[in-house]
Amino acid sequence: MSAKISFFKSVEQYVDKAASYTDIPRGLVEQIRVCNLVLQIRFPIRVGDDYQVIEAYRVQHSHHRLPTKGGIRYAESVDQDEVMALASLMTYKCALVDVPFGGAKGGIRINPANYTVEQLQNITRRYTTELIKKNFIGPGIDVPAPDYGTGPREMAWILDTYQAFRHGEIDSIGCVTGKPVTQNGIRGRAEATGRGVFYGIRECMSHADDMKKLGLSPGIAGKTIVVQGLGNVGYNAAIISQLEGDAKIIGIAEREGSIHDPKGIDIDKLMAFRKETGSIIGYPGSTHIGGPSAALELECDILIPAALENQITIDNAERIKAKIIAEAANGPITAYADPILLKKGILILPDFYINAGGVTVSYFEWLKNLSHHRFGRIQNRFQHNAFEGILNKVEEMTGKQITKRDRDFLTRGGTELELVNSGLEDTMITSYQQIRETFLQNNKIPDIRTAAFVSSMNKIASDYISMGIFP
Ligand code: GLU
Repeated sequence: MSAKISFFKSVEQYVDKAASYTDIPRGLVEQIRVCNLVLQIRFPIRVGDDYQVIEAYRVQHSHHRLPTKGGIRYAESVDQDEVMALASLMTYKCALVDVPFGGAKGGIRINPANYTVEQLQNITRRYTTELIKKNFIGPGIDVPAPDYGTGPREMAWILDTYQAFRHGEIDSIGCVTGKPVTQNGIRGRAEATGRGVFYGIRECMSHADDMKKLGLSPGIAGKTIVVQGLGNVGYNAAIISQLEGDAKIIGIAEREGSIHDPKGIDIDKLMAFRKETGSIIGYPGSTHIGGPSAALELECDILIPAALENQITIDNAERIKAKIIAEAANGPITAYADPILLKKGILILPDFYINAGGVTVSYFEWLKNLSHHRFGRIQNRFQHNAFEGILNKVEEMTGKQITKRDRDFLTRGGTELELVNSGLEDTMITSYQQIRETFLQNNKIPDIRTAAFVSSMNKIASDYISMGIFP
């Protein structure tokens, strides 16, 4: 068997496996699995004295809920298969964490490092224009967001282009999420995916029975972690696990290679070192252990692949020594490698659960945009006054004085960031509990990924059925 499997086929295999543990009719499984709309775009841009043809895509996987939702990726790996796979994962992800969107994804086949900021802006604006022309973008149609190789800057360009064409459309700011906070974005969106990874791992590790089976004590504190990729997701997952979870990061893999330090690596110091030297190799106290995938094979409690897809294949699966793998990237484990890891007793937290924090906070941003006000703005003062009233009454009734510090703490309304993070934390905890229940309720379901697909597909199927399409 070849180590290579198409990314979309890999997702289809997972879906087929899960379908056998549901009562969803075969035709409906087929409808859930296929991509509803695939847009392939070619457009020219000027580079120096010449022109270059840019290849781009937007795939809307499922319209069972609208708008469709998903990031836009700028990478040389982008092709139709990759975008279709990523779009379908978005559908399962949104359903799993009860974010009411269908799945979509976009991609432009470029290495952003090869273009100037001006050229990137031209490419982004032209891509957006093509989406507008084909009715593939809008707050009620399809809402892009950042993904690998894009960030708030690109989202601001998309918004500006959209608004230029849709002047006066009242909800136009909801046409894209992951925008800069100053451009109608929301606090906490930038670190949301990494923060969600942390909440998800922490929740999974809080179940003592499950951890016992892995030979681990409950809790994330003191556990050893290896991270592949220090991009937005990998960096935030690592730093939050270190600072808020007291976990020990012992290995890092990046483009230039892998490093190991069993005593623990300070992520912020490592980032500063990389900024200065251009590499993680040579970081004081660490050992250079090989290329970008070497760290994947380190002995550790938790492995977080946070780079691209197809990192753990049948070629290296047998050598993976982690007890838990949290798929922060989309599709880091191929469908062929998955059974090898499961046979080794590894607990896999699947991508469409563990990295769902990004789209969850995108949902909050979209809600904020459609409601045209910041969360807490209307009720915070009212709530503060009501709590003040209660505390005054308590003082009056008990004859005891509440300290200013306690009073300030007990009467303040949550900031936007606190509200966003609490919504994110609740989503990650509740969703894991749902997956775990599905897993425990049917003892034939072999693993957590399959349980997550079962839970997600049942919700999508029930949407289709209640629409009356499949009476
Ligand atoms: N690109 C992210 C993902 O894969 C976020 C998508 C979004 O916020 O719409 O989940």
